[in-house]
Amino acid sequence: MKPNLRYGYITFYKKDNKKIKISYISILLLIIAMFMLIPILENTIFNLIDYSKIDNRIKISDIKVKIEASNVKPELYVEEVYQPIDNGKKYVALTFDDGPGKYTKELVDLLIKNNVKASFFMVGQNIKNYKSSVKYAYDNGMEICNHSQNHKNLKNLSKEELEYEINSVDDMLEEITGQKPKYYRSPGGNQNDTVLSTIQKPCILWNVDTRDWESRDTEKIISKTLKEVDDGDIILMHEIYKTTLDAVEPIIIKLKEKGYNFVTVTELYKIKGIPLENGKIYYGM
Ligand SMILES: [Zn+2]
Repeated sequence: MKPNLRYGYITFYKKDNKKIKISYISILLLIIAMFMLIPILENTIFNLIDYSKIDNRIKISDIKVKIEASNVKPELYVEEVYQPIDNGKKYVALTFDDGPGKYTKELVDLLIKNNVKASFFMVGQNIKNYKSSVKYAYDNGMEICNHSQNHKNLKNLSKEELEYEINSVDDMLEEITGQKPKYYRSPGGNQNDTVLSTIQKPCILWNVDTRDWESRDTEKIISKTLKEVDDGDIILMHEIYKTTLDAVEPIIIKLKEKGYNFVTVTELYKIKGIPLENGKIYYGM
């Protein structure tokens, strides 16, 4: 069989020397026809398989429909999915109240040095004097929360006064960080039904009280914390005392040795798979 290229044909010679002429055009048409057949064949095979019976196959179109049906922004939808993580690790949230103040930047540096994220509950009266410290904490991954404008006992306030105490701090923090805080902590942990129903945020309290404001004793703050802490706890400290500042690093080092990981309040509840609701109190686990 000898192909013989000549004019618009390829000439094949059979054994008995008979010629078979095939034009270039017919070869070209044959190739085009083959390419057209491929998607049709592919579709036929695809339709023969019932994908609905294969559990782990997720169609992108299904996800899109779910996000649209949930009637929220896709990024919020993803962020608000709480999935408990059971990896055998222990988690704890350090919280610092009553700042910002003269130690805030130093404290943030200490936390950065130890690769720790913490949550800060800030008072409006102080925020106006330490705006750059708030920004510094926020920019370094600390969670900034609302601890009211004037640190009053919220139980004694009217609805209007309560709204002022929280909303004015929300506005101040939003101006500095670009974000309104997600949580508040009532001063002294004072709460009642009016407070809870008026302030449309989750109220974050604590279950390990270092009593740092009372003892003002670094060693006592360290030993009380280490004695009481457990997985899922929220630790209460006040960032306005030097004695507290001095206790922070030893506490972090000792708890890390015991296998604890330090996270923000948001991270703690996400890890534990508990969604936070407005008007409810959370003490840690
Ligand atoms: Zn306070």
